[in-house]
Amino acid sequence: MSDTLNNSLRTLCEDVDESDIGIEFTFKGWVMHYRDHGGLIFIDLRDYSGILQIVFDENIDNKSFRNAKKIKNEYVVSITGTVRKRPGGTENAGLKTGGIELLAKSVEVLNTCEVLPFQIDEESEVNEFTRLKYRYLDLRSKRLKDNLIFRSKFTHLIREFLNNKGFFDIETPFLTKSTPEGSRDFLVPSRLNHGHFFALPQSPQLFKQILMVSGFERYYQIVRCFRDEDLRADRQPEFTQLDMEMSFVKTGDVISVAEELFALIFNKLLGIELERPFKVLDYGEAMDKYGSDKPDTRFGLIINNLTDVFADSQLNLFKDNIQKGGVVKAICLPDGSNLLSRKDIDELLNVVKDFGAKGLAWTKVGENGLFEGGISKFISDDERNKAVARLEAKNGDIIFYQSDSKKTAENVLGRLRLHLAKKYGLVPEGRSDLLWVVNFPLFEYSEEEKRVVSVHHPFTSPAEKDLDRLEKDPLSVKSDSYDLVLNGEEIGGGSIRIHNPELQGKIFEILSISPEDAKLKFGFLLDALSFGAPPHGGIAFGVDRILMILRNESSIRDVIAFPKTQKAYCPLSDAPSAVKDVQLKELGIRLLEAAGKNIKSE
Ligand code: ASP
Repeated sequence: MSDTLNNSLRTLCEDVDESDIGIEFTFKGWVMHYRDHGGLIFIDLRDYSGILQIVFDENIDNKSFRNAKKIKNEYVVSITGTVRKRPGGTENAGLKTGGIELLAKSVEVLNTCEVLPFQIDEESEVNEFTRLKYRYLDLRSKRLKDNLIFRSKFTHLIREFLNNKGFFDIETPFLTKSTPEGSRDFLVPSRLNHGHFFALPQSPQLFKQILMVSGFERYYQIVRCFRDEDLRADRQPEFTQLDMEMSFVKTGDVISVAEELFALIFNKLLGIELERPFKVLDYGEAMDKYGSDKPDTRFGLIINNLTDVFADSQLNLFKDNIQKGGVVKAICLPDGSNLLSRKDIDELLNVVKDFGAKGLAWTKVGENGLFEGGISKFISDDERNKAVARLEAKNGDIIFYQSDSKKTAENVLGRLRLHLAKKYGLVPEGRSDLLWVVNFPLFEYSEEEKRVVSVHHPFTSPAEKDLDRLEKDPLSVKSDSYDLVLNGEEIGGGSIRIHNPELQGKIFEILSISPEDAKLKFGFLLDALSFGAPPHGGIAFGVDRILMILRNESSIRDVIAFPKTQKAYCPLSDAPSAVKDVQLKELGIRLLEAAGKNIKSE
């Protein structure tokens, strides 16, 4: 790493090694640790390349030793000295420069540092609010610094790959109109047009489609998106997407570019060879077997359908539910009898209730496939034999059952499967499973809105083979869309778009969006589509979430330089905050209530 930017002579900490022994250098950086051992002072100096140990020896250079006495943690210093081998037994194998040290001959303090609110690099008890308030200090820690440097390499690789493939990096507006991803918009009042608002884009969806109409054919952007949602650990009000769109493509083309890109990322940044093509799961199969449209396939616990087995069950609960059109489904936890105590099984009831279950039936599998405990005594030999065969259950396993509507049974077992895998360590370490989920339904019925809504967004193309059912049976129509899933997290999604205005009109009708409403909301896209729009499709990937997984972090905040809290507050800059009355007046805005305290208190 040669520092060509720096014209004041200086070497980077990790640029020196054994071959530099006996040579004099100047280093500049932060004092990470300071240890006074009587006649010897040790400093671990940190710069952006890494760490180097510096020694001040009273007997060798008394002046620099006395100057070093004034130094404290996180002072910014410039130190000149000679590289030497560390005395035998004092090497540090954990450091790249652990075999050498710098014997200092002069030190200059470039800046001092206040008492730190928390120790850098220590995963101490300090709460996250304080860490975010002093984010610049936390970013000095190795973990966060490495995450951000990884992020920089990641985006660089993406840009290089896509530029080489003939994609154009084109920016789209932030001050714009509401986009159709279906979340709440962040609004920006217009000063020149009182009562009118811009929306910050939930994604560049409309603009990237318009760029296809303009003939750019291959577009990408690493772009900020804004959605005013309640936040969970893996959400932020502003987040970054790798957004792509291509003309004259079919699903297979989009999938193939994305696979090539991910294979490159895994190879170059993690040294992992991904198997290609990635697995492809039908949406229906994903729901049937994993109870999720983003299945984690790194471990088994596959959901099996036992509805036919229990059709005549003496358990009224099973029988009545099946007669009403419900299902009985089950998962088998290998070696469950050893893993779970009776108390653990009882506690699982509360866990599944949180997932929406009414109860949790179970049986243990004993010798010769006989059932013990739980609902065993209500299960006939024939039912048991069939269940054991279908679940491939063995002595010592536990089977968990759900008798409910298909949707609830699959959702509960899908979440139980994840819960058990996490709790009992069934996820193999270091394994990465990437797969596509395809054949999503185009629409779903929203109980809340009492109308049919889009599963993705209203510009998603229906699957060609289902077009004749569009009006008769819209809920049975599949879409030409695809989601990419990594280790049970959705990391990207996209679709082939509708480029025919007539078909688009029909879709709006099914969605109960009136022509006037459609014109009002997306008129500019519809106009554009009517001027020779090529067939096109694309995809967007959640950059923060991907980085979180690749870096083994549990929150996307750890891969973002300046994230917000769960309450969408920035402790560093104290945003959002109240504004002056004159500013509101200029915008033509009067508050219903005076601004209260903001949400800083956590
Ligand atoms: N704009 C979509 C989203 O953000 C992705 C796409 O369809 O390309 O979810």
